[in-house]
Amino acid sequence: MVAQRSAAGPAPGAFMDEVIAATPGGASHLELCVQCGTCGGSCPSGPDMEHTPRHLFAMIRAGMKEEVLRSNTPWYCVSCYYCMVRCPQEIHITDIMYTLKRMAIKEGLYRESSAADAPDFSETFIDFVNNYGRSFELGLATRYHLRHHPLTAVRKAGMGLGMVRKGRMDLTPKRINGIEQLQAILAKARELGAEDGAISQGGRQ
Ligand code: SF4
Ligand code: SF4
Repeated sequence: MVAQRSAAGPAPGAFMDEVIAATPGGASHLELCVQCGTCGGSCPSGPDMEHTPRHLFAMIRAGMKEEVLRSNTPWYCVSCYYCMVRCPQEIHITDIMYTLKRMAIKEGLYRESSAADAPDFSETFIDFVNNYGRSFELGLATRYHLRHHPLTAVRKAGMGLGMVRKGRMDLTPKRINGIEQLQAILAKARELGAEDGAISQGGRQ
């Protein structure tokens, strides 16, 4: 059921409709959440999240768009999918977390979150995957800390060098074989993502 807009502003359910429409696949089942809390109790990142997934979904239902998009919760989701396999309502929790990240970036509200540097970290990770086909931990950690926590970078340099010496981390990135095939897949995914975004934007007009 699509929420109606009132003279005082969007109806509370309007934001939930927006999240559902923006989640790929068209069947996130978010509206079926029964607030059982299984997701929050299963989540390895729960202690670091400002709101458990259950709490966040209640806020979505209540139309608290800005508070939801300022929450650090989606940024602490590590996409382990544990909540999804345990949810009795088969809600696509992890996919919804990705939707909320995209919305927070689009609305600029991630900047007001306590995880404001997370999108930059993700972009750096994606850059390495695009260029080498895999993550490069030393480059990722160095770039992230120099940009956002330069003092911590100095403190952690010793630990990083120790890991390199013990062969636990590579000193230089190594490109996978067949990188052009992966790049073609990623380019197609970006193309489909752009089309999907255009369709869901159109659907909301
Ligand atoms: S496990 Fe599923 S139904 Fe239960 S609170 Fe989480 S999302 Fe809602
Ligand atoms: S997929 Fe995300 S929200 Fe779900 S249990 Fe894993 S970290 Fe928590």
